[in-house]
Amino acid sequence: HAKAAGRNTFAIFGGHMDELLRRRRKLEHDLRLALETRSQIEAFYQPVYSAEHKGLSSMEALARWKHPEEGFIAPDIFIPIAEEIGLIHELGAKVLEDACSVMADLPLISMAINASALELCSDGYPLRVLSRLAKWNIDPKRLEIEITESLAFGEEGRSDRNIAILRNAGVGIAIDDFGTGYSSFSRMQKLVVDRIKIDKSFIDAMQGESKPLIEAMINMARAKGLKTTAEGVETDEQSDALVALGCDSLQGFLISRPLSRAAVIDLYNETGKQIFTA
Ligand code: C2E
Ligand code: MG
Ligand code: MG
Ligand code: MG
Repeated sequence: HAKAAGRNTFAIFGGHMDELLRRRRKLEHDLRLALETRSQIEAFYQPVYSAEHKGLSSMEALARWKHPEEGFIAPDIFIPIAEEIGLIHELGAKVLEDACSVMADLPLISMAINASALELCSDGYPLRVLSRLAKWNIDPKRLEIEITESLAFGEEGRSDRNIAILRNAGVGIAIDDFGTGYSSFSRMQKLVVDRIKIDKSFIDAMQGESKPLIEAMINMARAKGLKTTAEGVETDEQSDALVALGCDSLQGFLISRPLSRAAVIDLYNETGKQIFTA
């Protein structure tokens, strides 16, 4: 009995694995195609508000894949695949190109992009970014690159040197999802970035146990001359508390979901083209 049941379980499990593997191979194949067509993958833009002025400050470009049969596929699914099959560089370049074209249309806006560890550690990355900006005639000061904590602390190969090249050229560096990685106070002393983005998980628990942690992050950032952005702000209560703590800027569904290129240009025009530094 046990043996039969075991064999059955194995057969079911095996079938399931086949199915997963098949789906995975198809996604890899489709992703290659998507990047070749250059139309299925494009950036959406999430507005970031100045906490002080409650007005538009910048935006974050986020990759979107509109699959011809399956509709939108989430970045949490396709970014890791792109990294594994070596397509993350092309994907990052496409998002940067989209971001540059929006910056060219909206003269005052700053833009953040996300860099994968593989991009940031690759030799040519800073030059590729800077020449793209030059091609569009965009001041490097208007671009911020979001990286992970482990990259910020120079744990991965060439990232230190690449960060220095980009910062020297005027590009800002932000630590994304701050507080979820391996920050320690001793490492914080050596940190050379421009901004921390406090992870959504802390904002979610803002009314409870994470309030003192957020307060400490903001105070520490201020002491080090870094800007702070709160990620995943969804309620007025969170927004008010963050403003009271002196957080510089707010991002989240309370302010806006990520928007298409056309929608974000409309928003910019509606806000009277007024941009606040934060
Ligand atoms: P991230 O950089 O931390 O981006 C923030 C994510 O939180 C986005 O998810 C955004 O849509 C979502 N978000 C923003 N506000 C709220 C909110 O109030 N509530 C909730 N529930 N979610 C909110 P998205 O676009 O699905 O991206 C997920 C992650 O994928 C990003 O996290 C980033 O790490 C990665 N990613 C996205 N685009 C790119 C890209 O072009 N290159 C690379 N390397 N990674 C990317
Ligand atoms: Mg980000
Ligand atoms: Mg984040
Ligand atoms: Mg995240």
